[in-house]
Amino acid sequence: MIVTRFAPSPTGLLHLGHAYSALFAWRRARDSGGRFLLRIEDIDRARCREEFAAGIVEDLIWLGLDWDGDVRRQSEHFADYRAALDRLAAQDMIYPCFCTRADIAGAVSAPHGSLGPLYPGTCRALKASERRARIAAGDAYAMRLDCERALARTGPLAWRDEGLGTITADPRSLGDVVLARKDAPASYHLAVTVDDAIQGVTLVTRASDLLAATHIHRLLQAVLELPVPHWHHHRLLTDARGKRFAKRDRAVALREMRAAGATPKQVQALAGF
Ligand code: GLU
Repeated sequence: MIVTRFAPSPTGLLHLGHAYSALFAWRRARDSGGRFLLRIEDIDRARCREEFAAGIVEDLIWLGLDWDGDVRRQSEHFADYRAALDRLAAQDMIYPCFCTRADIAGAVSAPHGSLGPLYPGTCRALKASERRARIAAGDAYAMRLDCERALARTGPLAWRDEGLGTITADPRSLGDVVLARKDAPASYHLAVTVDDAIQGVTLVTRASDLLAATHIHRLLQAVLELPVPHWHHHRLLTDARGKRFAKRDRAVALREMRAAGATPKQVQALAGF
């Protein structure tokens, strides 16, 4: 049975691009008699707001969507992400990183990956004693994946993408990503990978702007020995000039469209359904 999910972050209200993603996942599940799940990705406590989470649920219901089971809220599941980190730590695949954004931006040798500058690996080289001393001194740190060490364990990886065919994973294009942030005990990459497995998601559907992240999610699944779903990276809805929608674009916020008299059917049609 196909299990899909929609996983918005409550840092703003839903816009047409979200409506497209939500409808895509919902249709894909419902058309095949599968399950559709809703997950609120709210690990970033500084940027996420309760009123947006409630607003998202309200807008989805208005749009005509329904989901199976309870809504999973990431902020209630930090223990699951901790357990995954412990597992990676036991395999020596993560390390503390004390670098600031400025440290990383200023590292002249930093090569570029598909999502911006790659972490140059500064803290990977720290001695265990130095790590201990800095942690004891109270220096803030993130936890990063040791990408090479993980790849050495897994060997070459691939995934099945409904839209693109079989894709060879290239986790080096993201490198030593953050798995636990300085300000949150998890990161997007870790939480999404752990949750898709815990929730039994069999088909991850999301916009093509997140394709780059899948390379690292596939590696995390392999080292954490999680089931491997299929993916479908769908097109990214844009405005008439080809620009992607942003949460601040009020004109395409579902809430604004609804206030202006649009019906759910009209919004579905505008989103291409
Ligand atoms: N929470 C992510 C976002 O709002 C999407 C996560 C995913 O689909 O993998 O962009």
